[in-house]
Amino acid sequence: MSLHFKVSKYLLPYRILQFKRKWEALQYSAPESVAQYQLERIKKVIKHCRQHVPYYRDLFQENDIHPQDIHSLRDLQKIPELSKDILREQQERMVSEKGWHFLREQLLTSGTTGDKISIWVNPVARAQEFVRYWLFFQRGGYGIGKSFAEFSSDFFIDQENPLQVLSQKNPITNQLLLNTSYICQENARQYLDLMRKNKVLFVKSRPSSLYIFSQYIQEQGAIDLGIQCVFTIGEPLHIHQRQVIEKTFGCQVLDFYGHMERVVALSECTHGRMHVDEGYGLVEFQDVSNHSEEDGSRKSRLLGTTMHNLLMPFIRYDTGDLVEPDNTGQPCPCGNTSRVVKRIYGRTEDVIISQDGATYPALFLIFNMISGIKMGQIIQDDLLFFRVNIYPDNELYNKTQEEELLFYLKKYLGQNASIDIHIVDVKGFDYGSSGKFRSVISSVGSSWQ
Ligand SMILES: [Zn+2]
Repeated sequence: MSLHFKVSKYLLPYRILQFKRKWEALQYSAPESVAQYQLERIKKVIKHCRQHVPYYRDLFQENDIHPQDIHSLRDLQKIPELSKDILREQQERMVSEKGWHFLREQLLTSGTTGDKISIWVNPVARAQEFVRYWLFFQRGGYGIGKSFAEFSSDFFIDQENPLQVLSQKNPITNQLLLNTSYICQENARQYLDLMRKNKVLFVKSRPSSLYIFSQYIQEQGAIDLGIQCVFTIGEPLHIHQRQVIEKTFGCQVLDFYGHMERVVALSECTHGRMHVDEGYGLVEFQDVSNHSEEDGSRKSRLLGTTMHNLLMPFIRYDTGDLVEPDNTGQPCPCGNTSRVVKRIYGRTEDVIISQDGATYPALFLIFNMISGIKMGQIIQDDLLFFRVNIYPDNELYNKTQEEELLFYLKKYLGQNASIDIHIVDVKGFDYGSSGKFRSVISSVGSSWQ
């Protein structure tokens, strides 16, 4: 539910209410009822794919798959997975011949190599997206019409002077858009004033934007905005970011995971557990661990199957992300009975590969271990060469901390690794072509799967 959505696009009130009622109930249903709903939807999707989607028509024929052979969710395993590479090559043949020509919408997402891929959605998929946000925001106390601020660069990037327009208010939805094309001390202060003036109760943002914003406003001392909940979305929320944001805003952060492909939605509850939104898409975990990690956890690839967007359906789509499902079977105190994901690993470019082939998806945690580091970034240029940017708290960071940092980095990256530490300010970090802050940038890790 982006703040700048066109209300007309969402005028499927019956479908919206139907989804909301059903998915709300599913959150507290027995697994058998959830599976039954999912199977009903999946059967419709498979039948549609066989009749109207060229890519799947051929795939089913080649593999001798018939819609009437799908009797359980397990039967879905007969259908080969869909990789991002196949999606890139076959994207046009994955669009349903049924078309929805006048009502469809094109979304663009990045492929594995940064190239753009078109995702087509129909009005039902827009209702689907609206409801998933609605249910998620409700967990933090939000109700439609309550004052809401969204940090965004997407909306402003299209404007004539994207760096000069700071905000836009939508009085109908009572939502305030704040421009994060760039954040500096000056506009951070102005955003703070705008939020106060608009009596904002809820905030939605990419974690990296809010993290940088928090760094700036913390320098102005404690703020008491009366924010009830912060919702993060769009990229992995790291532990150190959560800590800083929660401290700055004085409220809980609830995190949210999803894709434009509309097949996987995970959302956090107030008890800090990331639940699978079982009504949204069919989520599949494919175990990739040869053995359990030291703490008993196991990593899985995250796959998803379309349940609603028949315009461009995906079956067993590999999101490219790794997760750690919670297999303890312990019920969540919030009452939600859906599956839980304990951890979501950052996208592949956030993984450091060391010379002995080990992968470090969370090396940025080193920055939490050393006092005096406000923000840190590790850039890996090759297996042995690392640049590390540090935005220090000058009162706490000195030679001792730098030696400690170097000690830990060498511990993970190898004693012969070349590590250059640079002291920078917020503007001195590498934001890449996307303009998004990433704690770890690795040209080696980006090719890792
Ligand atoms: Zn829960």
